[in-house]
Amino acid sequence: MVKHNFNAGPAILPRIAIENTAKAVLDFNGIGMSILEISHRSKEFQAVIDEAFALFKEIFNIPEGYQVIFLGGGASTQFAMVPYNLLEKKAAYLETGVWAKKAIKEAKLFGDINVIASSAAQNFTYYPKGFNIPTDVDYLHITTNNTIYGTELREDLNSPVNLVADMSSDFLSRPVDVSKYALIYGGAQKNIGPAGVTVVIVREDILGKMSRTIPSMLDYRTHIKDGSMFNTPPVLPIFTLNETLKWLKNIGGLTKIEEMNIAKANLLYNEIDRNKMFVGTVEKESRSRMNICFVLNEQYKELSDTFMEFAKNKGMVGIKGHRLVGGYRASTYNALPIESVQALVNCMQEFEKMH
Ligand SMILES: *Cc1c(COP(=O)(O)O)cnc(C)c1O
Repeated sequence: MVKHNFNAGPAILPRIAIENTAKAVLDFNGIGMSILEISHRSKEFQAVIDEAFALFKEIFNIPEGYQVIFLGGGASTQFAMVPYNLLEKKAAYLETGVWAKKAIKEAKLFGDINVIASSAAQNFTYYPKGFNIPTDVDYLHITTNNTIYGTELREDLNSPVNLVADMSSDFLSRPVDVSKYALIYGGAQKNIGPAGVTVVIVREDILGKMSRTIPSMLDYRTHIKDGSMFNTPPVLPIFTLNETLKWLKNIGGLTKIEEMNIAKANLLYNEIDRNKMFVGTVEKESRSRMNICFVLNEQYKELSDTFMEFAKNKGMVGIKGHRLVGGYRASTYNALPIESVQALVNCMQEFEKMH
């Protein structure tokens, strides 16, 4: 049976990226060894990481003055690394979900945190808008897409202070005006690669301003200086990331992928709104294109497990909602074909006919 992979992360990747990774694991570039067995400083791997840097800059349209870094440690390490490098006294945070809360918790270890807007009281069912950004803070931290709740900002804020964004779950899903951000980070495993590599894009002039000393591994400057080779980088995840970037460039880059992502999201949201059995869980204006959350309408609630089983038998994978939201979550990341969304929609329509 065909599987439709709606996993939230690690998640679906382009088939070509997986096939090329499989080949490189068996015999990398015809050198008679696996990519797993060679030095990260070999000229063969250097070519891979160089291509990945170049493609990231090209596809994401990164202006002069910014650096791209590939790190280990996941986005969660960035929750601490950001304040370690940028927080002298005070920072502003948007509290828009679980990941934002975790980022706030870490930042509080380093200074005063001003939560300038929060949707916590409404169980994070909307993305706050119209908040005032204070000017007496070192930076404003936002989470552009809230993976668990399914809300997304989808615009580049005009911030009077350095803007820092966790883009883990909508990285490379649309064109972004990078010049509006001081730092962007994300774990690869939601939308751009396998688990194990974290991408950081940083405007270099914001670094080196802290009074505290920063351990080498936690200092962005270390990794910039050594081209992400201060220590051994996650070699295989970077290889697969590069293959994913090649695929993205080939299909037409961010303008094209945004079109495709909008088409997929519209298809599913339209069905959620049309189908009498289902209802979305977040405010319409805040709906995420990447993580689409919905539940059964009140009068059908007892069919919750029945629909899950029904969908599973038709090849749907990973549609169980996060325990904090319940119901269903379909993650419709870049690599998910619209045919999979159509299959889920068909499933919902068939289920409606049966009840
Ligand atoms: C998954 C996720 C994280 C955590 O990523 P790790 O790489 O597992 O540390 C952080 N932020 C967002 C928005 C996420 O979706």
